[in-house]
Amino acid sequence: MTSGGGRDRPEEQQGPHLGTSLTALLGARTAAKLRDKLDLVTAGDLLRCYPRKYEQRGRMTDLRNLVVDERATVQAEVVSIDQRKLGSGDSRSGPRRGGARGGPRHLTRMTITDGTTTITCSFFNQPFWASRLPPGSVALFSGKVTRFRNALQMTSPAVMLLPGEAAVPVAGLPAPGTAAGDLDRDLETVESFAGGIIPVYPLVEGITQPVLQRSVRVVLDAVRIVDPVPEVLLATRGLTDLPAALRHIHRPADGDHLEQARRRLRYDEALAVQLVLAQRRARAREYPAEPCPVVPDGLLAEFDADLPFQLTRGQRAVGETIARDLATIHPMNRLLQGEVGSGKTVVALRAMLQVLDAGRQAVLLAPTEVLAAQHARSLRNTLGPLGRGGELGAPPRATKITLLTGSQSTAVRRAALLDIASGQAGIVVGTHALLSEGVVFNQLGLVVVDEQHRFGVEQRDRLRTRHPDGNPPHLLVMTATPIPRTVAMTVYGDLETSVLDELPAGRSPISSTVVPVAEKPGWLERVWARVREEVAAGHQVFVVCPRIGETESADRPGGAAVRSRGRSAADRDEDGADEPDDDGPDEQERRPPLAVVDIAPMLADGPLVGLRLGVLHGRMPAADKDAVMRAFAAGDVDVLVSTTVIEVGVDVPNATAMVILDAERFGMSQLHQLRGRVGRGAAAGVCLLVTEAPDGSSGRRRLAAVAASADGFQLAEADLQLRREGNVLGTAQAGRWTALRQLSLIRDREIIEQARVDATEVLGADGTGLDHAPGLAAMASEVIAAEQQEYLEKG
Ligand code: ADP
Ligand code: MG
Repeated sequence: MTSGGGRDRPEEQQGPHLGTSLTALLGARTAAKLRDKLDLVTAGDLLRCYPRKYEQRGRMTDLRNLVVDERATVQAEVVSIDQRKLGSGDSRSGPRRGGARGGPRHLTRMTITDGTTTITCSFFNQPFWASRLPPGSVALFSGKVTRFRNALQMTSPAVMLLPGEAAVPVAGLPAPGTAAGDLDRDLETVESFAGGIIPVYPLVEGITQPVLQRSVRVVLDAVRIVDPVPEVLLATRGLTDLPAALRHIHRPADGDHLEQARRRLRYDEALAVQLVLAQRRARAREYPAEPCPVVPDGLLAEFDADLPFQLTRGQRAVGETIARDLATIHPMNRLLQGEVGSGKTVVALRAMLQVLDAGRQAVLLAPTEVLAAQHARSLRNTLGPLGRGGELGAPPRATKITLLTGSQSTAVRRAALLDIASGQAGIVVGTHALLSEGVVFNQLGLVVVDEQHRFGVEQRDRLRTRHPDGNPPHLLVMTATPIPRTVAMTVYGDLETSVLDELPAGRSPISSTVVPVAEKPGWLERVWARVREEVAAGHQVFVVCPRIGETESADRPGGAAVRSRGRSAADRDEDGADEPDDDGPDEQERRPPLAVVDIAPMLADGPLVGLRLGVLHGRMPAADKDAVMRAFAAGDVDVLVSTTVIEVGVDVPNATAMVILDAERFGMSQLHQLRGRVGRGAAAGVCLLVTEAPDGSSGRRRLAAVAASADGFQLAEADLQLRREGNVLGTAQAGRWTALRQLSLIRDREIIEQARVDATEVLGADGTGLDHAPGLAAMASEVIAAEQQEYLEKG
């Protein structure tokens, strides 16, 4: 460092900046409020608290869109005011009888309108409103929206007058009995905004819009904002500078300025995330890894020679890419996306064999015990003698396949751990149990994560970093839930991606049909008749319900009751329907979703009497689950009534039909996953989506889309469009990107793509680019800090 200290820390010399505390800028009282209520401490915090929406002066808010139980700020015109004294009937004479002493004595009911819809505001003991807001006045009303006798209302909203709107033209005097100072307290004035665009901030109890508006103005005027993004980048992308963007997001002069501000702030968020991901990719490239080149006469070669089918073109291509990755001296970090049934398992197995040939171990991590057990079983079948390592008469090269799950007995577990630690086990298959502390590998070379969408990002990373004395293993992450491009670039942006988009030849198509029992009750009978036909033809059937059910406490209906019963996270993951998030207002009034434990006996005694029924759900002991799955796979069970525990990976080619009950309760991608369980053999598959949702409802639209398209990627994009933003990240298990405020994975694909290119370029081939760009480095570390915070909070 040279002696020019001022150049190193310019902010300190030039007065308030984004890091300056709000106390210094706004005074202790306001700052304390902002800190306690909104968690805002610095100028930067406040300026990053963006308006939730904007009101155009004079333009009424559309009152139809108000949501019950949410806080809202609306601009509306007063239509009429009705005043009433509360308590006993006649208040002019005699002592009060019923009226609450000290309670509400006076009620003002004000009807306000946007020109089309009206709602009511009630004020208690504030008789002055009639004179302050006579009919015809326009003001901002903000408070919680409630429902009262089927009409929307706000109780005691905060009222803000717009400057220049004369609200007290005649009766300017305070009502009798009211202190003059009340005018200020009860009727705040929104400051004047250029262009008449009024920012509306997220509301919390105790902080009014004018307080936030004024605080933002003071801070904007006081601080000097340094733009962290180099000018060249801004010029290339046609973006406005940060000081302007922050000014215009809070106080836009017009729509164009607002749009420019938004674009810039979205770009910043995208860039920060992409910088982090680019750094990670660069760092991963730096790690050493044990190279595992293909050997001419190893297990892989032997397996390939005996393969009962031809690999698809995609399987071959992806296989070659992976083989190359594994042979290098840096760890592979690859995401394999493949449509349901595209044959990802064999791709993974071939990668594992290549690693075994190099003398190292491979792990296959599955999200459910059912799937882990199935994988272990089918790997043993597929490998035949090559998978019988340690057994008598096995070929010398043979490897041992070891299963590790959370519910194994201590003895079995101990033996498995020993196999793993000694290196006896070449292939280790397991669930989350593999992530626990006591699991020590001998020579871990490859981690395969199947059905990645069921895991958290941290879980994936936990195995990857399990290399105390060796090098990090290669990583192959697989998912059949197609990931929309923006999500892939953001959530999985630190992985290289490959896609398997073709199904093996000879696969029969699945036909999906919506069964709307509300309009066509008779169709339900047809459903069960169809099930009987499939069974009569020698096939098997799944019946899927959204819920396990609770036989022992029928008084606590609903999924919440089931979920609160101290089940482990893993169990919860196995059964949950991805509740879609756009269902109508009377959600509470719906009956609880159909449950496995209720439906199974009804079917057994009713429409499916005489068939061999099995039941499967996440709350069953692992041994029972395994027994049921084995029986189903062996053809000893005709109909399996189950939760979504069979959603992922289950592979029983003789299953040809699936009935999904309360189908509208599942997400679109989840339905696509579920139906991928049938039609895996030569016979055509059928999926019946049974629903009571009425025609024209959003649920029915989703089901129609699923029935109409067999393309998982297309459905995932459609699903994305239909979801609310918050749930997109939730679905993608990217709760970690709390830094995303303006950026939308749904809308901002172009910005994300640009930011990805820019981040990679900024970082440079050697990954040191950020060393010379402290502003950008700070943006990236903010993302990391938020991510770590999230991680800590999750525990
Ligand atoms: P997913 O990608 O959904 O995990 P799987 O790996 O379970 O799919 O494969 C589905 C079925 O297709 C399995 O029974 C598997 O043996 C079979 N399969 C995989 N690849 C081929 C192929 N190239 N030709 C024929 N069948 C294949
Ligand atoms: Mg699979």
